[in-house]
Amino acid sequence: MSVPRPRKIVLLIALLATLVLLCCGGSVTALLVGGLDKEDGDLNVALGCGKGGPVDPDSKLPRIRPYGGDQIRNAAVIINVGADLKLPPRAWVIAVATSMQESGLTNLGYLGRERNDHDSQGLFQQRPSAGWGSVAQIRDPVYAATKFYSKLKTVDGWEEMSLTDAAQKVQISAYPDAYAKHEPLATQIVNQLADGAANAVGSSTTMVCASAGQVAASGYTLPVPESVGSGFRTASRPSHQGVDLISAKQTPIAAAASGVVSMVKCDEDHRGRHTCNVDGYPGKGGCGWMVEIQHAGNVMTRYCHMVTRPFVREGQEVTAGEIIGRVGSSGNSSGPHLHFEVHRNNDRSSAGAIDPVQFMRGQGAPLGGVG
Ligand SMILES: [Zn+2]
Repeated sequence: MSVPRPRKIVLLIALLATLVLLCCGGSVTALLVGGLDKEDGDLNVALGCGKGGPVDPDSKLPRIRPYGGDQIRNAAVIINVGADLKLPPRAWVIAVATSMQESGLTNLGYLGRERNDHDSQGLFQQRPSAGWGSVAQIRDPVYAATKFYSKLKTVDGWEEMSLTDAAQKVQISAYPDAYAKHEPLATQIVNQLADGAANAVGSSTTMVCASAGQVAASGYTLPVPESVGSGFRTASRPSHQGVDLISAKQTPIAAAASGVVSMVKCDEDHRGRHTCNVDGYPGKGGCGWMVEIQHAGNVMTRYCHMVTRPFVREGQEVTAGEIIGRVGSSGNSSGPHLHFEVHRNNDRSSAGAIDPVQFMRGQGAPLGGVG
């Protein structure tokens, strides 16, 4: 993002004046829900945004654990079919994740009544008796992927849906929540096999990198367009578990990805007060008005210091880019900014926090809009 020079200087002065002061933390308590997830978006950083096009399934393909060569070849076929049908890269991610859940990217034959769901077969476990095609057709990966995409296209608004909702509308599975856990690795596979296509604008076939206000094919978008003022666990602030995005008061804050709101509260300060409708101050303690969202792959994002009560409630489903509140300076804060955290493994404690700059870059939504 380009910032006019005078504003940059003002920002810099404001930044230097408050470097040690912007913060949050305080009374956020630890909660381990469990679940380990080693998938990492960091590998995607060096890639483009899909301009290079999909990889040839018959070429030597990269190894992407835990899948073998045949399975990655099937993923390449799925991606290529999506590209041939002129579907945007978000569809490729949804299709790959769906096949990961249904068949482990394996072209399954009939495994017997015990192991198959009814007469389901192939990469997407489609059923001949439900009108998906003949057994021979369904066992053809190109046919199976084409059928998946053609049904996806008929789902109204699939581009904006969570991956689970979109996949469920096509598959009508008995276990719809199972799709979401594959989203991070499906994102990586699409990136590795199609030149970083999951970093591109998800709903467009132009294959340009997503910028502020746009959702990448990974399903992620920027919470605010501004860049990082104060970083993650810096030498001067080793216990700073997120980044401070210096934004004007009232700037809308977007959900970084689809998910379920798991916490909305006025975080108490060091003296046990819940006073979030006023500007805070350094040393007050607490995140002020705050929101936490649980995303696919056991990722949680946290947003602090909002100016008023957030616009969402606990248990609410949100989509990427949905406005959840506005920037303020409530809690332990010296000026308006968004304190933004990313946690792994469903670990809300500081041990679960990871560098949001690195994580968001890996999702094709680099903070500040620069990779
Ligand atoms: Zn902070």
